[in-house]
Amino acid sequence: MSKELMQVAALNLKKAVPLMLKHQIPTTPTNYALWYAYVGEQQPQLNEQLDTIINEHSTCPPSNSTLLYREFVADPVELDVIDMRQNLEAMATELSQSLKDTNTDATHFQKRIDSNFDKLNRIEEEGVSLEKVLGVVRNLVKESDEIRSSTEYFTGHLKRAQQEIDALKAQLKKSEKDVLFDALTGVLNRRAFDSDLKGSLSQSPDGLCLILIDIDHFKAFNDNYGHQLGDQVLKAVAKRLGESCREGTKLYRYGGEEFAVITANSQLRKARHLAEAMRRALEKVSLKDRRKDAMINNITASFGVAQWDPSLSATQLIEQSDKLLYEAKRLGRNRVMPIAS
Ligand code: GH3
Ligand code: MG
Ligand code: MG
Repeated sequence: MSKELMQVAALNLKKAVPLMLKHQIPTTPTNYALWYAYVGEQQPQLNEQLDTIINEHSTCPPSNSTLLYREFVADPVELDVIDMRQNLEAMATELSQSLKDTNTDATHFQKRIDSNFDKLNRIEEEGVSLEKVLGVVRNLVKESDEIRSSTEYFTGHLKRAQQEIDALKAQLKKSEKDVLFDALTGVLNRRAFDSDLKGSLSQSPDGLCLILIDIDHFKAFNDNYGHQLGDQVLKAVAKRLGESCREGTKLYRYGGEEFAVITANSQLRKARHLAEAMRRALEKVSLKDRRKDAMINNITASFGVAQWDPSLSATQLIEQSDKLLYEAKRLGRNRVMPIAS
């Protein structure tokens, strides 16, 4: 984000947070994005609708928030949660800094008030007329009470805002995790794969290999035992594959019943060995189907392994692995291709 954009962003968030506090809007990333859009005033319809809801309910119920968010903020195609996370984090950092600054001012202010009380003490000691002193006292007490309570109110507000921001940060951290990990198996997801592969290749790695893995006849597990058991198979496979990964090796759920492994710093021969070890490990997986009281121990997968070289784009590397995986299927499944390297 450019500096100007960041300033605008911080400014808008500064406007959004107090509004959210005022209307008791829960501080979810979605709501932050929604209210951020509201104070940005780029979409008159959004503001109109949100105003109406607030007028009616004195807050914005979660169901309305979700609908508004979907209609005005989230572009179902373009929505890039990582970007949002980064923007919000940048804004939160900026805001929490400026809140800290204001906080310091408030403390400073309180010190000034206290020193006024000191002065008052001295007037008394120096023997000015009682009436005059009382006048001063009355004024000072009135003024400083006002200042003091508004300062306290303000500091309280700041404290709460600060807490909201901390909560937001924690939530963002969690949503970042949600964004990169597959909910069913817990391994890294396709989004993480795309970004990791692109990132790795941009550094011209020596010995980066891609293993594509596809469970054999997976549809049959679903057909014979039901989708839930299919899910259990996917979890067990992911777990076993993950256990075979050493440092520098990452496992991803690439698609439905497809996984991918990226190895850094291992030539094709070594990556092939890893794939072979994974293949054998999967053969040993067994699951119990409670409904049919049957053991499932015929889980196998096919593997395609390719090594990157500087002439290959990410897409071409994936195509190579995929072609080899297809070969493995064609030759009868439960095998690693190429045969030897
Ligand atoms: P092949 O050996 O040729 O790979 O055969 P296959 O049956 O594994 O391949 P196919 O592509 O025909 O079927 C894949 C199935 O995986 C179809 C789809 O319903 C199922 N599937 C995809 N994602 C999930 C999931 O998350 N859970 C479950 N239970 N099934 C899934
Ligand atoms: Mg498949
Ligand atoms: Mg399959």
